[in-house]
Amino acid sequence: MSETPAYKVFALRYATSGPQRTRRENFIFADAHDAPGPIDYFVWAIVGDGRVIVVDTGFTPAAAAARKREFLREPTALLGLIGIAADQVRDVVVTHMHYDHVGNLDAFPAATFHLQDDEMAYATGRYMTHRALSQPFDVEDVIGMVRRVYAGRVRFHAGSAEIAPGITLHRVGGHSGGLQIVRVNTTRGRIVLASDAMHLTENRIAGNPFPIVLHVGEMLEGHRLCEELADGEDHIIPGHDPEVLKRWPRWRADEPDIVRVDLAPIS
Ligand SMILES: [Zn+2]
Repeated sequence: MSETPAYKVFALRYATSGPQRTRRENFIFADAHDAPGPIDYFVWAIVGDGRVIVVDTGFTPAAAAARKREFLREPTALLGLIGIAADQVRDVVVTHMHYDHVGNLDAFPAATFHLQDDEMAYATGRYMTHRALSQPFDVEDVIGMVRRVYAGRVRFHAGSAEIAPGITLHRVGGHSGGLQIVRVNTTRGRIVLASDAMHLTENRIAGNPFPIVLHVGEMLEGHRLCEELADGEDHIIPGHDPEVLKRWPRWRADEPDIVRVDLAPIS
């Protein structure tokens, strides 16, 4: 029997909210809401055993301008730095279809996109007639994904699935209709790329969810699922937490926006 491969996992920051964002935007329940609450925007890459899997595709400079985010670098340029050519990538996991996770699809012409059934149904269904729920989506991204469905380039999943040895997807409700998280085997055990199952570690620790939410109960259950799937609290990688770049070792000393989350945290 062959051993489960251990993968390298990179978190690559491509944008930030800027310092004007407050905690009001990060937590549902009463809190020091006017204090600063910046968040970062990431894509992730899983590399090893002859495989490259990209997790989410980020947004474009145009989307950043429209939503007043600070765009730092093209996600594909960051991937290029670590040796990944976006146009060669065969597998992209789309954790969910909010604008900050599913732009730039054209940059991945060779990819199959892994998506939960529930997410596509949600992003094209009745709830999108409510501005409060459609607001985090960009309809052009959704249309782009529908085109890829018709081109046979979307691999749908319903719940949990193993997409490679040691790499599994798990559906989480709450933040969107069918978000999925990714569990990856590494040399330090199994880590979970939580994406927006938890934006900040503090959302989980305080039991205080992020306010863009379809179902609070499912979101809280998602926090718990991350804890169950990961081999420890340090093995849960939050989706938008500025602490990620501080806690995990840099991929290269002079590169502040790329860290290795498969390695043990340094603080
Ligand atoms: Zn997000």
